[in-house]
Amino acid sequence: MKKHNSRCVFINKMGIGDNYPVRVESMLKVPLNRRDAILSEVKKLKEVGCELLRVAFPSLDLKQDLDYLVKEATIPIMADIHFDGNLALAAMESGCPSIRINPGNMKNKKALREIISMAKDKGVVIRIGVNGGSLASSFYEKAQGDEALALVLAVKEQINLMQDEDFEDLIISAKATSVKATLKANTLLRQLYPYPLHIGITEAGPGLHGIVKSSVGIALMLSQGIGDTIRVSLTASSVEEVKVGQEILQALGIRRFRADLISCPTCGRKRVDVNMLVEAIEPALGKLPKDWTVAVMGCEVNGPKEASGADFGIAGTQSGVVFFQKGKVIGRCSVEEIASYVKSIIEGF
Ligand code: SF4
Repeated sequence: MKKHNSRCVFINKMGIGDNYPVRVESMLKVPLNRRDAILSEVKKLKEVGCELLRVAFPSLDLKQDLDYLVKEATIPIMADIHFDGNLALAAMESGCPSIRINPGNMKNKKALREIISMAKDKGVVIRIGVNGGSLASSFYEKAQGDEALALVLAVKEQINLMQDEDFEDLIISAKATSVKATLKANTLLRQLYPYPLHIGITEAGPGLHGIVKSSVGIALMLSQGIGDTIRVSLTASSVEEVKVGQEILQALGIRRFRADLISCPTCGRKRVDVNMLVEAIEPALGKLPKDWTVAVMGCEVNGPKEASGADFGIAGTQSGVVFFQKGKVIGRCSVEEIASYVKSIIEGF
Protein backbone atom coordinates (compact mmCIF):
# COMPACT_ATOMS: atom_id res chain seq x y z
CA MET A 1 0.00 0.00 0.00
CA LYS A 2 2.45 2.63 -1.21
CA LYS A 3 1.53 6.29 -1.05
CA HIS A 4 1.36 8.15 -4.35
CA ASN A 5 4.28 10.52 -4.61
CA SER A 6 3.39 14.05 -3.70
CA ARG A 7 5.22 17.23 -2.89
CA CYS A 8 5.74 17.86 0.77
CA VAL A 9 5.03 20.83 2.97
CA PHE A 10 6.23 21.63 6.48
CA ILE A 11 3.94 22.88 9.21
CA ASN A 12 6.31 24.06 11.89
CA LYS A 13 8.87 21.30 11.37
CA MET A 14 6.41 18.51 10.62
CA GLY A 15 6.55 17.13 7.10
CA ILE A 16 3.28 16.26 5.32
CA GLY A 17 3.29 14.46 1.97
CA ASP A 18 6.12 12.77 0.07
CA ASN A 19 7.54 9.93 2.20
CA TYR A 20 6.41 11.36 5.53
CA PRO A 21 4.00 9.22 7.57
CA VAL A 22 0.29 9.74 7.02
CA ARG A 23 -0.58 12.29 9.72
CA VAL A 24 -3.53 12.05 12.09
CA GLU A 25 -5.28 15.30 12.87
CA SER A 26 -8.40 16.61 14.56
CA MET A 27 -10.32 19.80 15.19
CA LEU A 28 -10.88 21.56 18.51
CA LYS A 29 -14.47 21.21 19.66
CA VAL A 30 -14.65 24.16 22.07
CA PRO A 31 -14.77 27.86 21.11
CA LEU A 32 -11.50 29.77 21.08
CA ASN A 33 -12.47 32.08 23.94
CA ARG A 34 -12.79 29.24 26.45
CA ARG A 35 -9.08 29.24 27.10
CA ASP A 36 -8.93 26.75 29.99
CA ALA A 37 -11.15 24.23 28.20
CA ILE A 38 -9.07 24.63 25.05
CA LEU A 39 -5.79 24.00 26.84
CA SER A 40 -7.23 20.93 28.51
CA GLU A 41 -8.41 19.60 25.11
CA VAL A 42 -5.01 20.31 23.55
CA LYS A 43 -3.28 18.46 26.41
CA LYS A 44 -5.47 15.38 25.96
CA LEU A 45 -4.95 15.46 22.19
CA LYS A 46 -1.18 15.72 22.61
CA GLU A 47 -1.24 12.72 24.96
CA VAL A 48 -3.04 10.53 22.41
CA GLY A 49 -0.74 11.62 19.56
CA CYS A 50 -2.71 14.20 17.55
CA GLU A 51 -0.28 15.73 15.04
CA LEU A 52 -2.14 18.74 13.63
CA LEU A 53 -4.99 20.68 15.16
CA ARG A 54 -7.52 22.73 13.22
CA VAL A 55 -9.30 25.47 15.09
CA ALA A 56 -12.33 27.47 13.99
CA PHE A 57 -11.49 31.19 13.79
CA PRO A 58 -14.85 32.79 12.96
CA SER A 59 -14.36 36.35 14.22
CA LEU A 60 -11.66 38.99 14.56
CA ASP A 61 -12.90 39.48 18.14
CA LEU A 62 -11.15 36.17 18.92
CA LYS A 63 -7.75 37.30 17.67
CA GLN A 64 -6.23 37.55 21.16
CA ASP A 65 -7.54 34.10 22.02
CA LEU A 66 -5.90 32.75 18.87
CA ASP A 67 -2.63 34.52 19.79
CA TYR A 68 -2.84 32.76 23.17
CA LEU A 69 -3.56 29.36 21.66
CA VAL A 70 -0.71 29.58 19.14
CA LYS A 71 1.66 30.54 21.97
CA GLU A 72 0.52 27.79 24.34
CA ALA A 73 -0.34 24.88 22.03
CA THR A 74 2.05 21.95 21.87
CA ILE A 75 0.55 20.76 18.56
CA PRO A 76 0.84 22.70 15.25
CA ILE A 77 -2.28 24.79 14.61
CA MET A 78 -4.27 25.25 11.41
CA ALA A 79 -6.75 28.14 11.53
CA ASP A 80 -10.03 27.32 9.81
CA ILE A 81 -11.21 30.32 7.79
CA HIS A 82 -14.51 30.92 6.04
CA PHE A 83 -16.01 33.94 4.24
CA ASP A 84 -13.57 36.68 5.25
CA GLY A 85 -10.00 37.07 3.99
CA ASN A 86 -9.19 39.40 6.90
CA LEU A 87 -9.53 36.42 9.24
CA ALA A 88 -6.83 34.59 7.28
CA LEU A 89 -4.52 37.60 7.51
CA ALA A 90 -5.18 37.91 11.27
CA ALA A 91 -4.53 34.19 11.80
CA MET A 92 -1.16 34.46 10.08
CA GLU A 93 -0.35 37.55 12.16
CA SER A 94 -1.11 35.43 15.24
CA GLY A 95 1.61 33.04 14.10
CA CYS A 96 -0.54 30.17 12.78
CA PRO A 97 1.79 28.03 10.68
CA SER A 98 -1.10 26.89 8.50
CA ILE A 99 -4.57 28.04 7.48
CA ARG A 100 -7.48 26.35 5.78
CA ILE A 101 -9.57 28.37 3.37
CA ASN A 102 -12.80 27.27 1.75
CA PRO A 103 -13.12 28.12 -1.94
CA GLY A 104 -16.86 27.57 -1.61
CA ASN A 105 -17.27 30.79 0.35
CA MET A 106 -14.14 32.82 -0.33
CA LYS A 107 -14.15 34.13 -3.85
CA ASN A 108 -12.67 37.62 -3.53
CA LYS A 109 -9.57 37.36 -5.72
CA LYS A 110 -7.95 40.51 -4.35
CA ALA A 111 -8.28 39.19 -0.78
CA LEU A 112 -6.88 35.83 -1.85
CA ARG A 113 -3.86 37.51 -3.42
CA GLU A 114 -3.22 39.33 -0.14
CA ILE A 115 -3.47 36.03 1.74
CA ILE A 116 -1.04 34.34 -0.64
CA SER A 117 1.43 37.21 -0.35
CA MET A 118 1.42 37.07 3.45
CA ALA A 119 1.61 33.25 3.43
CA LYS A 120 4.72 33.46 1.25
CA ASP A 121 6.35 36.00 3.57
CA LYS A 122 5.61 33.98 6.69
CA GLY A 123 6.13 30.47 5.29
CA VAL A 124 2.51 29.53 6.02
CA VAL A 125 0.97 26.42 4.46
CA ILE A 126 -2.50 26.89 2.94
CA ARG A 127 -5.03 24.10 2.79
CA ILE A 128 -7.64 24.52 0.09
CA GLY A 129 -10.50 22.67 1.72
CA VAL A 130 -13.69 22.10 -0.22
CA ASN A 131 -16.85 20.61 1.28
CA GLY A 132 -19.87 19.40 -0.67
CA GLY A 133 -22.21 21.30 1.64
CA SER A 134 -20.66 24.74 1.12
CA LEU A 135 -20.05 24.56 -2.61
CA ALA A 136 -21.50 27.30 -4.86
CA SER A 137 -24.29 26.05 -7.12
CA SER A 138 -22.31 27.23 -10.17
CA PHE A 139 -19.84 24.36 -9.66
CA TYR A 140 -22.68 21.83 -9.57
CA GLU A 141 -24.08 23.36 -12.76
CA LYS A 142 -20.72 23.15 -14.54
CA ALA A 143 -20.34 19.57 -13.33
CA GLN A 144 -23.89 18.74 -14.45
CA GLY A 145 -24.83 17.69 -10.94
CA ASP A 146 -21.86 15.37 -10.39
CA GLU A 147 -20.78 16.18 -6.81
CA ALA A 148 -17.27 14.75 -7.17
CA LEU A 149 -16.61 16.79 -10.30
CA ALA A 150 -18.05 19.90 -8.69
CA LEU A 151 -15.62 19.47 -5.76
CA VAL A 152 -12.71 19.07 -8.16
CA LEU A 153 -13.71 22.16 -10.17
CA ALA A 154 -13.82 24.25 -6.99
CA VAL A 155 -10.35 23.08 -5.93
CA LYS A 156 -9.05 23.62 -9.45
CA GLU A 157 -10.24 27.23 -9.60
CA GLN A 158 -8.39 28.09 -6.43
CA ILE A 159 -5.24 26.15 -7.33
CA ASN A 160 -5.09 28.08 -10.61
CA LEU A 161 -5.05 31.31 -8.65
CA MET A 162 -2.36 30.02 -6.27
CA GLN A 163 -0.23 28.85 -9.18
CA ASP A 164 -0.66 32.21 -10.95
CA GLU A 165 0.86 33.76 -7.83
CA ASP A 166 3.61 31.16 -7.78
CA PHE A 167 2.43 29.67 -4.48
CA GLU A 168 2.76 25.95 -4.00
CA ASP A 169 2.90 25.32 -0.24
CA LEU A 170 -0.49 23.74 -0.51
CA ILE A 171 -2.51 20.90 0.91
CA ILE A 172 -5.74 20.12 -0.87
CA SER A 173 -8.89 18.43 0.34
CA ALA A 174 -12.27 17.63 -1.10
CA LYS A 175 -14.85 16.06 1.18
CA ALA A 176 -18.45 15.02 0.79
CA THR A 177 -20.76 13.12 3.10
CA SER A 178 -20.89 10.43 0.43
CA VAL A 179 -18.02 7.91 0.44
CA LYS A 180 -18.41 7.36 -3.32
CA ALA A 181 -18.24 11.05 -4.23
CA THR A 182 -15.29 11.67 -1.90
CA LEU A 183 -13.38 8.72 -3.33
CA LYS A 184 -14.00 9.83 -6.91
CA ALA A 185 -13.04 13.46 -6.22
CA ASN A 186 -9.81 12.48 -4.48
CA THR A 187 -8.87 9.97 -7.17
CA LEU A 188 -9.21 12.76 -9.75
CA LEU A 189 -7.30 15.26 -7.61
CA ARG A 190 -4.45 12.81 -7.12
CA GLN A 191 -4.23 12.36 -10.89
CA LEU A 192 -4.28 16.10 -11.52
CA TYR A 193 -2.05 17.57 -8.81
CA PRO A 194 1.16 16.79 -6.91
CA TYR A 195 0.09 18.49 -3.66
CA PRO A 196 -0.40 16.57 -0.39
CA LEU A 197 -3.98 15.46 0.13
CA HIS A 198 -5.91 15.77 3.35
CA ILE A 199 -8.68 13.16 3.35
CA GLY A 200 -11.79 12.33 5.34
CA ILE A 201 -15.54 11.93 5.05
CA THR A 202 -17.26 15.08 6.19
CA GLU A 203 -20.02 14.98 8.82
CA ALA A 204 -19.69 11.20 9.06
CA GLY A 205 -22.02 11.10 12.05
CA PRO A 206 -22.13 9.70 15.57
CA GLY A 207 -20.84 6.49 17.17
CA LEU A 208 -20.72 3.27 15.22
CA HIS A 209 -22.28 4.84 12.12
CA GLY A 210 -19.64 7.59 11.91
CA ILE A 211 -16.75 5.28 12.71
CA VAL A 212 -17.73 2.74 10.05
CA LYS A 213 -18.44 5.36 7.39
CA SER A 214 -15.18 7.22 8.05
CA SER A 215 -13.16 4.02 8.25
CA VAL A 216 -14.55 2.64 4.99
CA GLY A 217 -14.07 5.92 3.13
CA ILE A 218 -10.60 6.72 4.45
CA ALA A 219 -9.39 3.12 4.07
CA LEU A 220 -10.61 2.95 0.47
CA MET A 221 -8.57 6.03 -0.38
CA LEU A 222 -5.49 4.99 1.61
CA SER A 223 -5.56 1.53 0.03
CA GLN A 224 -5.11 3.27 -3.34
CA GLY A 225 -2.18 5.28 -2.04
CA ILE A 226 -4.31 8.43 -1.71
CA GLY A 227 -3.95 10.54 1.45
CA ASP A 228 -1.15 12.29 3.32
CA THR A 229 -3.11 13.44 6.36
CA ILE A 230 -6.44 12.22 7.74
CA ARG A 231 -9.21 13.45 9.97
CA VAL A 232 -12.01 11.22 11.20
CA SER A 233 -14.91 13.63 11.48
CA LEU A 234 -17.19 12.35 14.26
CA THR A 235 -19.99 13.66 16.43
CA ALA A 236 -17.75 12.69 19.35
CA SER A 237 -14.71 14.02 21.18
CA SER A 238 -11.62 15.08 19.26
CA VAL A 239 -9.63 12.47 21.23
CA GLU A 240 -11.98 9.77 19.85
CA GLU A 241 -11.37 11.11 16.33
CA VAL A 242 -7.61 10.74 16.75
CA LYS A 243 -7.88 7.24 18.24
CA VAL A 244 -10.09 6.05 15.37
CA GLY A 245 -7.71 7.62 12.83
CA GLN A 246 -4.77 5.80 14.39
CA GLU A 247 -6.69 2.52 14.43
CA ILE A 248 -7.45 2.89 10.70
CA LEU A 249 -3.77 3.40 9.89
CA GLN A 250 -2.73 0.55 12.19
CA ALA A 251 -5.34 -1.86 10.76
CA LEU A 252 -4.07 -1.12 7.24
CA GLY A 253 -0.46 -1.67 8.34
CA ILE A 254 0.44 1.91 7.34
CA ARG A 255 1.56 3.07 10.79
CA ARG A 256 2.01 1.38 14.13
CA PHE A 257 0.98 3.27 17.27
CA ARG A 258 0.88 0.48 19.85
CA ALA A 259 0.98 -3.32 20.24
CA ASP A 260 -1.80 -4.97 18.23
CA LEU A 261 -4.56 -6.75 20.12
CA ILE A 262 -6.37 -9.71 18.61
CA SER A 263 -9.16 -11.47 20.49
CA CYS A 264 -11.41 -14.33 19.49
CA PRO A 265 -15.13 -13.80 18.89
CA THR A 266 -15.84 -16.71 21.34
CA CYS A 267 -18.00 -19.72 20.59
CA GLY A 268 -19.49 -22.69 22.43
CA ARG A 269 -15.97 -23.86 23.41
CA LYS A 270 -15.08 -20.79 25.42
CA ARG A 271 -13.75 -21.44 28.93
CA VAL A 272 -13.48 -17.88 30.17
CA ASP A 273 -15.06 -14.44 29.87
CA VAL A 274 -12.99 -13.04 26.97
CA ASN A 275 -14.28 -9.49 27.49
CA MET A 276 -12.98 -9.61 31.05
CA LEU A 277 -9.57 -10.81 29.80
CA VAL A 278 -9.46 -8.04 27.18
CA GLU A 279 -10.21 -5.46 29.86
CA ALA A 280 -7.41 -6.88 32.03
CA ILE A 281 -4.83 -6.71 29.27
CA GLU A 282 -5.79 -3.57 27.34
CA PRO A 283 -4.24 -1.06 29.79
CA ALA A 284 -0.90 -2.85 29.43
CA LEU A 285 -0.77 -2.58 25.63
CA GLY A 286 0.94 0.82 25.64
CA LYS A 287 3.78 -0.61 27.76
CA LEU A 288 4.59 -3.41 25.32
CA PRO A 289 6.79 -3.09 22.21
CA LYS A 290 4.81 -1.48 19.36
CA ASP A 291 5.56 -4.30 16.94
CA TRP A 292 4.04 -6.95 19.22
CA THR A 293 0.79 -8.81 18.73
CA VAL A 294 -1.15 -9.76 21.84
CA ALA A 295 -3.83 -12.46 21.62
CA VAL A 296 -6.76 -13.08 23.97
CA MET A 297 -8.52 -16.37 23.23
CA GLY A 298 -11.50 -18.10 24.78
CA CYS A 299 -10.09 -21.62 25.01
CA GLU A 300 -6.84 -23.58 25.01
CA VAL A 301 -8.08 -26.12 22.47
CA ASN A 302 -7.69 -23.71 19.59
CA GLY A 303 -6.43 -20.51 21.24
CA PRO A 304 -2.64 -20.92 21.25
CA LYS A 305 -2.67 -22.39 17.73
CA GLU A 306 -5.07 -19.82 16.29
CA ALA A 307 -2.87 -17.10 17.74
CA SER A 308 0.43 -18.90 17.23
CA GLY A 309 2.06 -15.78 15.78
CA ALA A 310 1.29 -13.74 18.89
CA ASP A 311 4.18 -12.39 20.95
CA PHE A 312 2.07 -12.78 24.07
CA GLY A 313 -1.28 -14.44 24.59
CA ILE A 314 -3.84 -15.67 27.09
CA ALA A 315 -6.36 -18.47 26.57
CA GLY A 316 -9.10 -19.80 28.85
CA THR A 317 -8.75 -23.28 30.40
CA GLN A 318 -11.06 -25.42 32.50
CA SER A 319 -9.47 -24.10 35.69
CA GLY A 320 -8.35 -20.59 34.71
CA VAL A 321 -6.07 -19.31 31.96
CA VAL A 322 -2.88 -20.30 30.21
CA PHE A 323 -0.26 -17.81 28.95
CA PHE A 324 1.67 -18.42 25.77
CA GLN A 325 4.34 -16.89 23.56
CA LYS A 326 4.58 -17.72 19.86
CA GLY A 327 2.31 -20.70 20.51
CA LYS A 328 4.37 -22.08 23.47
CA VAL A 329 2.80 -22.21 26.93
CA ILE A 330 4.79 -20.11 29.43
CA GLY A 331 2.52 -20.17 32.52
CA ARG A 332 -0.90 -20.80 34.06
CA CYS A 333 -3.06 -19.22 36.77
CA SER A 334 -6.60 -19.12 38.14
CA VAL A 335 -9.19 -16.53 37.05
CA GLU A 336 -8.76 -14.65 40.36
CA GLU A 337 -4.99 -14.34 39.81
CA ILE A 338 -5.20 -13.02 36.23
CA ALA A 339 -4.74 -9.29 36.94
CA SER A 340 -1.65 -9.71 39.14
CA TYR A 341 -0.22 -12.44 36.90
CA VAL A 342 -0.59 -10.29 33.77
CA LYS A 343 1.03 -7.37 35.61
CA SER A 344 4.02 -9.42 36.73
CA ILE A 345 4.52 -11.01 33.31
CA ILE A 346 4.35 -7.68 31.49
CA GLU A 347 6.67 -5.98 33.96
CA GLY A 348 9.13 -8.82 33.35
CA PHE A 349 9.38 -8.10 29.60
S1 SF4 B 1 -10.41 -19.58 20.57
FE1 SF4 B 1 -11.76 -21.18 21.37
S2 SF4 B 1 -13.49 -20.02 22.21
FE2 SF4 B 1 -12.41 -18.63 20.85
S3 SF4 B 1 -13.46 -18.86 18.89
FE3 SF4 B 1 -11.69 -20.21 18.84
S4 SF4 B 1 -12.52 -22.17 19.54
FE4 SF4 B 1 -14.03 -20.62 20.11
